[in-house]
Amino acid sequence: MFSFLMTSLPAPRSFSDFWAALGNLLPLPPGPPPPTEQARVAPQPLEEPLLLSLQQLLKPEQIHYDPTTLSAYAGGRCYRGFIRRQSERPAPSAVVFPENEREIATLMQWAAQREIQLLPWGGGEDPYGVKQAATSPFLAVALERMNHIAQLDPQTGQLHAEAGTRWSAVEQALAESPLTTGQFFPSAATTLGGSIASNTPGVKTLTYRPLTEALSQIRAVCPSGPFELQRPWPGIPDERSLMLGSHGAWGIITRVTLHLLRKPAKKKRLVASFPSWTAALAALRSVLGGEVEPTSAQIITAREVSLFNAHLSSKWKQLLRSVRGSPASSGKVCLMLEFEGHPRLVNDKKHRIEEILHAAEAQVENHKKLFRPASAPHSSRQEYLEQLWRSNMLADTFTAFIPWPQVSKFLHDWEEALTSILQATGEGQCLPLTTIYATAEHAQINTLIIGRQAAGDVQARQFQLESIQEVAWETQQRWGVAARPSPLAARAITAAETSLDPAGVMLR
Ligand SMILES: Cc1cc2nc3c(=O)[nH]c(=O)nc-3n(C[C@H](O)[C@H](O)[C@H](O)COP(=O)(O)OP(=O)(O)OC[C@H]3O[C@@H](n4cnc5c(N)ncnc54)[C@H](O)[C@@H]3O)c2cc1C
Repeated sequence: MFSFLMTSLPAPRSFSDFWAALGNLLPLPPGPPPPTEQARVAPQPLEEPLLLSLQQLLKPEQIHYDPTTLSAYAGGRCYRGFIRRQSERPAPSAVVFPENEREIATLMQWAAQREIQLLPWGGGEDPYGVKQAATSPFLAVALERMNHIAQLDPQTGQLHAEAGTRWSAVEQALAESPLTTGQFFPSAATTLGGSIASNTPGVKTLTYRPLTEALSQIRAVCPSGPFELQRPWPGIPDERSLMLGSHGAWGIITRVTLHLLRKPAKKKRLVASFPSWTAALAALRSVLGGEVEPTSAQIITAREVSLFNAHLSSKWKQLLRSVRGSPASSGKVCLMLEFEGHPRLVNDKKHRIEEILHAAEAQVENHKKLFRPASAPHSSRQEYLEQLWRSNMLADTFTAFIPWPQVSKFLHDWEEALTSILQATGEGQCLPLTTIYATAEHAQINTLIIGRQAAGDVQARQFQLESIQEVAWETQQRWGVAARPSPLAARAITAAETSLDPAGVMLR
């Protein structure tokens, strides 16, 4: 068991406190510089005749075209969105808030006749993500009004919900019921449609199923028409894959039928702290795939917990004091495990895993809550990040999915590549904060890198971001883990595009 170091930092509560805590990890001036955000030239709303015809389709409150809203929808809530909002990249000419499928279908017809494109907008984390630059005017189609959750069907255990609904809202609606979706995401703002369109894995896939297993049916509206995508059936292909990972490139997901599971009778949580990533990864691998596999497993640095969590329980504070050490010792990490199921089974699993972890010389604690680096729109984490961006800091998360045998070596290379490029372009030290979520075959590596923005204007910052994205991509390619469809699959996908959206109404 490693020694306890009783140095304590106050948990950050205001941005100044957060800045001071960050200053213990990175050389920073004593106080944050005054916010600087370059205002973009006011985006151009739709021309009057187009607006008038759009107003025939939707109610006035469903169409927003004031400069503030247009600028706000020029980029998502992530760092790339912050930079995009200031750049000269095209902003939407209006933001529309449809309330049903019929309105979406009419909107698509209207857009096709006027060479206007549509960009689906779910929780708004990264709606521009993989999209090419828009070549014609476009509208952001915000699905937040399509958030109706129907009554649960007790016969089938199925639940219909509109695609703009957040997963967290579905779980809230199920709070009193014995059922769950089993799908949980780091951001509370993630919507059903957004997660399907970007094929994002949940964080509890070890026990609950991957996203696809929870989806009985997906309804979508494409410029060619509406359709329903079913689960595979003997002799029938898996139609849902037309929308999974489509990034909304050829249609808008409107409604989802979820297949629910029984909630576990009992939940237990353990946090084990280790002196290094290598030790934590070895311990995690020893409990994966075996009889005592946890429901979810996450590895996170003690630094990230202490930086972002303003209201730590006394147990967390005690644990962090024991692992914090001096700011220069960067390796301290926490392995967080959850067990769910029948009470006897859960207790047994937990007990056996505690033994394994003690044998691995970890310090183990029971916790009521696990720390999740939540990025809900108004969480303190999101606020700190936004203020960092305005204080000329770059703070962006890069994701990679790595097969377990490669994780340890990949992580070293990945963090080094990301920090080197940020240091080279931002002139100063850089801090990587990695979180790993376990899935059965892969580690989902999310690395938040914090460093200085490139000096100069927004183009310089855009270029810096693209350089880092390029390095992240090259690193994944070097390790053979960069996902890319084969040329034949790419041709098949293009063929799907032409039948679903022949006029290119959807921004892609
Ligand atoms: C490989 C990968 C890994 C990621 N990992 C994480 C992660 O670990 N944690 C995390 O928080 N985020 C992650 N993201 C970002 C991911 O985009 C968001 O977390 C989340 O899935 C998006 O949800 P959202 O509702 O905010 O959608 P948005 O950000 O609003 O949209 C995301 C994409 O979906 C499209 N879209 C949205 N709604 C619909 C709809 N109804 N119909 C059709 N298209 C729609 C948008 O046009 C856009 O292309 C990851 C993304 C990728 C590609």
